Amino acid sequence: MKIFDSHAHIYDKCFTSDFTEMLENAYNADVHAIMIVGTDISSSKKAVNIAKSYKNLFASIGFHPHDAKNCSDKNIKILKKLAENSCVKAWGEIGLDFNRMFSSVVIQEKWFEKQIQAAKELDLPVIFHERDSKGRFLEILNLYKNEKIKGVIHCFSGSGNELLKYLDMGYFIGITGILTLKQRGQSLRELVKMIPDKKILIETDAPYLAPSPYKNKTRRNEPAFVRSVLIKLSQIKKQEPEKLGKIIWNNTCSLFNI
Ligand SMILES: [Zn+2]
Ligand SMILES: [Zn+2]
Repeated sequence: MKIFDSHAHIYDKCFTSDFTEMLENAYNADVHAIMIVGTDISSSKKAVNIAKSYKNLFASIGFHPHDAKNCSDKNIKILKKLAENSCVKAWGEIGLDFNRMFSSVVIQEKWFEKQIQAAKELDLPVIFHERDSKGRFLEILNLYKNEKIKGVIHCFSGSGNELLKYLDMGYFIGITGILTLKQRGQSLRELVKMIPDKKILIETDAPYLAPSPYKNKTRRNEPAFVRSVLIKLSQIKKQEPEKLGKIIWNNTCSLFNI
């Protein structure tokens, strides 16, 4: 079986001391490819530097909505230059996050749109982040409805109504380990039944969001654990993990042009 962790931040300090071991763990759990996602200039550079050195690791560059306050036209130029590396396969994560408000609404929306345009210019698929945006995220996506932007709504946490709209726009849906959590995963376990297999991606968002049962033993999530997202998903969808895993692997490669 081959599993693709479509979203991880493995440049994080918490992986420095056992980086090789962490990659070996992933490989032993059939995780054969990882998309390393940047959130600002420095993490995007780190993502590219790691991805350059490994055949099956890829990079995505961009400014997370939390970091939108530090974005600028100059920084977008730097990211565009970084995107010339062949390991860069996506732009993101970008979007809106009105949960913690590390950047203001006006600033988040401005740099969200500017980055959609940058991704379009480079013809890169987009990794979207949305949390508590009160409908604004969908309103902005709607402006680009006719532009056929390829992308994934990573760490999907929205409503059924939002889910249908994302699917209608052709986006893939990224499912994290939240799916495996007893309380927090309840509504997600219902909603995934609505997603066609051909539209699903799986991810860890490591080092965040450790899935069950690892959550009780370690706070740090790592790419190997994405396997438990696939297993849970195949139970809910009443499918063989191998079969569903293959579909999801192909979805991921097709989105990122790999
Ligand atoms: Zn995110
Ligand atoms: Zn992330």
